[in-house]
Amino acid sequence: MSLAPGSTVGIVGGGQLGRMLAIAAAQLGYKCHILDPHEHPCAADVAASFTRAAYDDAAALEAFAQAVDVATYEFENLPVEPLGRLGEKLRPGRKSLAVAQDRAEEKSFIEASGTRVAPWRAVASLGEVGAAVAELGLPLVLKTRRYGYDGKGQAWIREAAEAEAAWNAIAHEPAIAEAGVDFAAEYSVILARWADGTTRFWDSPENVHEGGILRRSSVPCGPAVAPQVPEARAAAGRIADALGHVGVLTVEFFASAQGPLVNEIAPRVHNSGHWTIEGAETSQFEQHIRAICGLAPGSTRLAGASAVMENLIGEEVNRWPELLARAGAHVHIYGKGEARSGRKMGHLTTVNGGG
Ligand code: AMP
Repeated sequence: MSLAPGSTVGIVGGGQLGRMLAIAAAQLGYKCHILDPHEHPCAADVAASFTRAAYDDAAALEAFAQAVDVATYEFENLPVEPLGRLGEKLRPGRKSLAVAQDRAEEKSFIEASGTRVAPWRAVASLGEVGAAVAELGLPLVLKTRRYGYDGKGQAWIREAAEAEAAWNAIAHEPAIAEAGVDFAAEYSVILARWADGTTRFWDSPENVHEGGILRRSSVPCGPAVAPQVPEARAAAGRIADALGHVGVLTVEFFASAQGPLVNEIAPRVHNSGHWTIEGAETSQFEQHIRAICGLAPGSTRLAGASAVMENLIGEEVNRWPELLARAGAHVHIYGKGEARSGRKMGHLTTVNGGG
């Protein structure tokens, strides 16, 4: 089935990803309805309707399910069970969410799909952290199983004496201990999958993180990454199939000497795919809407010879007048209000050559 223009796409979560999804949906003639607990989520500024409600508010979700023709989510830290009220309208389904929101489930699922991750253990006590140090060696990183993003909920252990401080730093939350990976580069595979299994990939961006936050994504990727992309795509495709995923799925990889190692998956459009708005023939946002609404896939070809996306983090967004004056710069500002440190406030994409 393909959803006719004029239909309503529900988006659970009203951040910048929801905002860019709503803009893409509007271009295809859809109306968007945002559900988010905050007073002024930035996606609501560009959507036809907005329900302010907690993500586990059963009555609100019931009404939302009635009001929309299809529903999706734009971040993964949502309670899974209440979304059952959206039934078959929810795309991707709850399985993608459940797997992606718990790092231990995620790692086990990826390994079961036949793909490597860094050596890891689940830890739930200081004693288990000590055992993980003995088994995995150092350095290693503790990551809370849930609610971690942009480097939050993580603490490194570089010497055995730091184990207790790291365990305290993650507030004794159930976590995984993961061996530090000596990687040449980081990259992601971004794909869109349709209900019938049709899958499309974009060029894999090479990603640079600073302090656990994405700084920059560039296509085409460099020589450390390019030879790994075919294997990484095959792995990401297997994960998407095993999830029965519908919509965009992002798989983040380390380019290690042993080949692609998955860092994590996001069952949604992703910051490392923002360059596709101007840098590819079809953006990740439009393609996600096409996939969940059952429309034909768009071309994922590069629109130029190369593209670079830079995040505007915290007060960097105040550079907007100067950035707007730059030839060829595509400035995106999310309208999020206060430019707190570490907060993603906007991004800038430059496409070079061709187009
Ligand atoms: P994550 O929140 O898991 O995506 O981690 C954020 C960033 O921290 C990653 O993109 C890497 O730059 C770095 N990082 C996370 N895990 C590891 C690891 N096991 N080894 C080396 N660097 C890591």
